[in-house]
Amino acid sequence: MKIRFRLTLWYFSITLFILLLFSLGIYLSMQRVLFRSLDQDLTEIADVVEQSYNDSLATFDILQLDSEKTDPFLDYYLVIYNRKKEVIFRSALAEQISLEVPFSAPGDPERATLKIFLRHPIPRLHPGKKGEIAFRAINRELRYQGKRLGWITVARPIEQLEESQHRLLQILFVAILIVVALIGASGYLLTRKALAPVDVIARRANQISHSNLNRRIEGVSPGDELGTLAETLNNLLERLERAFQSQQRFMADAAHELKTPLSVLRAHWEEELNNPELSLPMKEKLARDVETISRLTHLINNLLLLSRTEQIRENFDFSEVRLDEVLDEVVADAAILAEMKEQRLVSEHQESVTLRGDRSRLYQLFFNIVDNAIKYTQPGGEVSIRLRRIGGEAVVEIRDNGPGIPSEDLPHIFERFYRVKKDRARQTGGSGLGLSICQLIARVHNGKIEVESQPGQGSLFRVRLPLEEGEKQAAKS
Ligand code: ADP
Repeated sequence: MKIRFRLTLWYFSITLFILLLFSLGIYLSMQRVLFRSLDQDLTEIADVVEQSYNDSLATFDILQLDSEKTDPFLDYYLVIYNRKKEVIFRSALAEQISLEVPFSAPGDPERATLKIFLRHPIPRLHPGKKGEIAFRAINRELRYQGKRLGWITVARPIEQLEESQHRLLQILFVAILIVVALIGASGYLLTRKALAPVDVIARRANQISHSNLNRRIEGVSPGDELGTLAETLNNLLERLERAFQSQQRFMADAAHELKTPLSVLRAHWEEELNNPELSLPMKEKLARDVETISRLTHLINNLLLLSRTEQIRENFDFSEVRLDEVLDEVVADAAILAEMKEQRLVSEHQESVTLRGDRSRLYQLFFNIVDNAIKYTQPGGEVSIRLRRIGGEAVVEIRDNGPGIPSEDLPHIFERFYRVKKDRARQTGGSGLGLSICQLIARVHNGKIEVESQPGQGSLFRVRLPLEEGEKQAAKS
């Protein structure tokens, strides 16, 4: 999972957790406040009842209840007991329902929340309401001049309180939803913004390869952690570039040093070949040695070319080149090789195509690919070469029906000295440099090479080279 999603998820979960805790706190304290004020209300009613009896007790016995004094409380559940816990008064509501509230101990009112089930609606209670209904009730002593007269139970339905709780829950739920959604969205945007330089670093780093090691990762503001990461990567690139340059210098120097003695050796051997006193077997041996020296010189030339990637353009001689003619030349030279393997070599192009390029390098590029196709295809196979103009490009396709290239090797065949395993074991005479040279030549011409291959069915090498402006116009018309 992407870091930005993980961070957002963390944000989201932590905020949700904190909000839930916070809401639970609000809910519980609000519940306490509501119950406390309700209990206070009930206590006050009990006080008023007690007071009104106290005022008249000097003249009346508690058993002589004056219903007028209890009138204001008729909407409440009100029950008064005497010392023997016998009921001496019930309010109208208490006539219809009965709540079992425990009798309180002296000085400590008993509080309880009770639920009863109403089968029919009761006139004094929520007109029309039936079913389960909850009451908050208190029971406390009634006292006169320090002596217990009896007990009083006062109760009220807590429907309103429950409604307030319910509303609070709804408000908290909506608030949590909104806050969590806002925090989640802003968390996602923030992390995306904070991590945007990582994308920049990854994109820039992906664009850097051995051919443009002098490029650096830019566009990341220095000073923060990601800026430090970019700087570290740039330092690494710097060291890599230096190492690469010294490796190339070493390759160029070594190749250069080897070239001179080899040409001296070759000249010497060729001179010896003309010696009439030399026996035939000796001449044959010398000829094979000269051939080996030629191959070695060719390899060294390739190494020199590959080692000069920096000033590579200077080694190319650009001019107007007829690509169809170059291909004809390649086909003519390769025909001998194909004939030796009894292969069919087919060339197909109807029009002339001109582009700016180095004629001999282009010859080298196409000869290498055609030579490979012939070399790796079994005797009796077929190799075809096709030139077309597509859009602003000259497209040359070299197709064979040889063994193909395994998919795991395909991404590597343009690497220097890379050879498919079985070809490395077989003595096909290659060095693994041919396709790297081809790719280098194509790049210098601003072109590219694509490969499609199915093991057992053959390979297709497609070389795309951009045409000149004039040629592009011709292609369009
Ligand atoms: P080599 O000198 O070995 O031919 P290249 O760089 O020209 O080196 O090619 C690299 C490898 O790609 C070869 O060793 C071979 O295994 C594989 N290859 C190239 N062209 C073909 C082809 N037409 N068919 C099958 N394999 C090929």
